[in-house]
Amino acid sequence: MRHESVISTIGNTPLVSLDRICGSRISAKVYGKVESFNPGQSAKDRAALYMIEQAEKKGRIQPGATLIEATSGNTGFSIAMIAAVKGYKCVLTLTDKAGPEKRALLTALGAEIVLCPAAAEPEDPASYYSQAERLAADIPNSFYLRQNWNLDNSNAHYYSTGPEIWNDTDGKVTHYVCCAGTGGTLSGTARYLKEKNPNVTIVGVDAYGSVLKKYWQTGIFDADEIFSWKVEGLGKTIIPDNVAFDLIDEFIKVGDRAAALRVRELARREGMLLGYSSGAALEAVFAMRKQLTPDDVVVVLFPDHGSRYLGKVFNDEWMKEQGYLRPNGEPAAYSVRH
Ligand code: PMP
Repeated sequence: MRHESVISTIGNTPLVSLDRICGSRISAKVYGKVESFNPGQSAKDRAALYMIEQAEKKGRIQPGATLIEATSGNTGFSIAMIAAVKGYKCVLTLTDKAGPEKRALLTALGAEIVLCPAAAEPEDPASYYSQAERLAADIPNSFYLRQNWNLDNSNAHYYSTGPEIWNDTDGKVTHYVCCAGTGGTLSGTARYLKEKNPNVTIVGVDAYGSVLKKYWQTGIFDADEIFSWKVEGLGKTIIPDNVAFDLIDEFIKVGDRAAALRVRELARREGMLLGYSSGAALEAVFAMRKQLTPDDVVVVLFPDHGSRYLGKVFNDEWMKEQGYLRPNGEPAAYSVRH
């Protein structure tokens, strides 16, 4: 297949049967939607591209523009990649928690990085959110993507991920299971699938320590829910506009330990090296297995590739330090941490 640029290779990711890991333990047919096949190795390519192209269409940016985002993860990589192709500048504000490897990934694609103190509260002028706002105000012809609030993040998945899942299951999908961070991947896809068939069950996946599930249950932002957790990209300590709470039928919280053990099992049983939150998503399918029947077709979305986690979940020493593996390498049944 020939492409004019790497941008048109975004999307159309495969659905892969998970028979080897799920087959004997889950009665439904389970497929993984493997977003690491995107050129930036994550689902964020779709959201970044759509937010940028809509801004172009709305006349928000002109040639030579500067794209700005507060991020440390996959979204930054996707924006930097697209900016390189389109000839835009890319400035990313990062917290100083982001290690040298993460910074190198972004600068390799030509992004400029502004490091901000991780300890700063969002309203603090030094925080990475405030710094991004300031840059957007100071730099002419700039566009701050604001992935938590920009609804073109969800729309990206309404127009791509949703139709792909519907078509690739011949309309037979009964359950869609997806991590919630900004909520874009969950909500846009869910909106499309519910329009096609209102009976499709939408299952959100959240982290312990995140406020999303409690907000879905009660409509209340409960700061007492918040504590730190390990799975990157999963859960939030704010309520983003991109989480469509009304479309979610079930919200399942997954702990750091269960997600870590599951993503390692996924690599060894299915030969797929995927990111930490993919383990959380698959763990949610296992958590709901008693309600699944042989007629069900479950699609679980795997957000990113495992190469960015070699120092964490795929590192035995890290796993032992967390208490997720015993000193002999056996999975620890219980841990004092999530
Ligand atoms: N997992 C990973 C690894 C991510 O980078 C993200 C995006 N922040 C998510 C899950 C959640 O996706 P979304 O922001 O679309 O809810």
